[in-house]
Amino acid sequence: MKIQSIETYSTKEISIVRVVTDNGEEGYGQIAPYHANISSLVLHQQIAQHVLGQDPMDIDGIVDRCIEAEHKFPGSYICRAVGGVDTALWDLKGKLEGKSVCELLGGEIRPIQAYGSSMRRDITPQDEADRLKLLKQKDGYRAFKIRIGNNFGKNVDVWPGRTEEIVPTVRQAIGEDIALLVDANSGYTPDRAIEVGKMLEQYNVGHFEEPCPYPEIEWTAEVTRALTIPVAGGEQDNCLAQWRRLIDLKAVDIVQPDVCYLGGLSRTLRVAKMAAEAGLPCTPHAANLSMVTVFTLHLLGALKNAGPYLEFSIEKTPWTENLFYPVLEVKDGMVEIPKKPGWGVGINEDWLKKADYKISQLN
Ligand SMILES: [Mg+2]
Repeated sequence: MKIQSIETYSTKEISIVRVVTDNGEEGYGQIAPYHANISSLVLHQQIAQHVLGQDPMDIDGIVDRCIEAEHKFPGSYICRAVGGVDTALWDLKGKLEGKSVCELLGGEIRPIQAYGSSMRRDITPQDEADRLKLLKQKDGYRAFKIRIGNNFGKNVDVWPGRTEEIVPTVRQAIGEDIALLVDANSGYTPDRAIEVGKMLEQYNVGHFEEPCPYPEIEWTAEVTRALTIPVAGGEQDNCLAQWRRLIDLKAVDIVQPDVCYLGGLSRTLRVAKMAAEAGLPCTPHAANLSMVTVFTLHLLGALKNAGPYLEFSIEKTPWTENLFYPVLEVKDGMVEIPKKPGWGVGINEDWLKKADYKISQLN
């Protein structure tokens, strides 16, 4: 069996990948969100040549060949494109073996606890507290994540005092028995991150995510050493050698690889294994309701060192609506892993029809 064709269905935000073998078997995956139309071009122009004609069961080998062959172009776009192929191949493998990806990995289909993940900084502390309290009542969430500081914010809040106000306001609204996580999105220098972290300790914050600009792993390590609460990070990191350094340095207490940013499930499993060997839990990044949340559910169902939660976005994003079925739902704070073979979801035909189509195939 060999890979006969790779098709992409792209919008600016998302690209769905379909891999078909010479005997007509197929699998669906997804390229990481955001500028996905550019990543799909990279897939066809640079990656497809290393994938077509290969044995679809050799996923690790294919992924490594792509990254190594395109070594002059390390980084995000190559990894995003490879991730589209990798996730389609895992779907294909599951369908061929009649197993969900979770089961392929030795895991068990079951509900996974989710944390409701806020993506907003333009919201007032009181409005954030009110909507999280409501979600706790309606969907039974036992954990939430809120945003503090600002994205690469150089110690400047979206408006003065927002961080100092939102943490106690949300904590009071959701109660002491609900886990409260925070994300600074690379917002602080170490001294300010430690100052903020000491405040977070007072409110029993469950993890402090990306306190410092993410490439500054020594800065992050300094913050991790200074605080009693766990520091989390790694969502942007797509180089396995950088991941090894991050883990060796004990820069974070919780690793957060993103299946799509990192180049697919196979590479994410390697990061999770490195973390397991260092005694660290893995709470993957899955910050939108595209297929990345499906991939992450299967992964969490199988990892021995899985962190306690699935990240589940609480924001409405038109670009993820009607993408796949069945839709993921939070009930009593839990999300079921789709149980059908492969990723266990179908891509909506109407969505595919509206997207830009491109194919690379063996002659
Ligand atoms: Mg984050």
